[in-house]
Amino acid sequence: MILYFWFWSLIIANLYIKSVVQASILVIGSNETYADRAAAFGPRLSENGKVGYLVEPSSDRTGCNLVYPPISTDWIALVRRGGCSFVTKVRKMQESGAIAVVVGDPENRSGWVTMYTPDNTSDIKIPSLFITKKEYTTLHYLSKMAEDMPLMVILQADGFMTWPLLDLLLIIFVSPSIVMMFVLYSWLVKQKKMRRQEIASSEDIANLDKRCFRREKKSSAENVTGYDDEEECSICLESYRENDMLRVLPCKHAFHLSCVDTWLTTQKRFCPICKRDIALKSTIAAEITPLLSAR
Ligand SMILES: [Zn+2]
Ligand SMILES: [Zn+2]
Repeated sequence: MILYFWFWSLIIANLYIKSVVQASILVIGSNETYADRAAAFGPRLSENGKVGYLVEPSSDRTGCNLVYPPISTDWIALVRRGGCSFVTKVRKMQESGAIAVVVGDPENRSGWVTMYTPDNTSDIKIPSLFITKKEYTTLHYLSKMAEDMPLMVILQADGFMTWPLLDLLLIIFVSPSIVMMFVLYSWLVKQKKMRRQEIASSEDIANLDKRCFRREKKSSAENVTGYDDEEECSICLESYRENDMLRVLPCKHAFHLSCVDTWLTTQKRFCPICKRDIALKSTIAAEITPLLSAR
């Protein structure tokens, strides 16, 4: 059972990772990869990825305006967050001939962001990615350095270098908490079951004897029936009145019917005086009968 939960937590962890970091940027010259996150709009990166030159528009680094002078090669726009909406940047860069857009956070604001817009984005034909300040700072520096010889990158759909580490971290943190939840749940179920075994069911109660309290009957019937009548109920400590309904337990102890029924169904399934289980009916009867006949 625990293995089953472990297996499921693995799948959940995997799905979670795929929703968090979906891609990476591979710089061909240095063979280094940078994690990024795909936007919620526009097309997804294909399995083969996208190859191009990473260029930061010199006219407007936010990418909110058309790039001037136009760039003729297959280029991927590296723009910074701010100035206009994410979708505006992507539209402007698409119009300027870019094959993809990488939006970098110039400040450490909110970590990883999934670029999103409620507007219709059916006109967007190029993929766009978000990178945090760490990646942006490095890629901005590299693209500036490579002005004479453009920086060639591959936008990859799966950066398999980043998966195992994240996978491992999630397995370490997510799976134990799921296993713990399962253990807690089974413990609660067990506790409830044990509690149910401790109290009497309505069926147990129905099998018990009951009778009417009669003062005059007591003296004559005492030895014959084996009833060991007390004058008062040991649960509520009130004296019995004529015609009170009494419940007689197999141990022959009697109480008010309502008092002992409440006790048996909510507290314990044994006699409040002698602690004998109400289910031990036959054994007790067998013990008592020889004693009575001996008198
Ligand atoms: Zn009572
Ligand atoms: Zn008893």
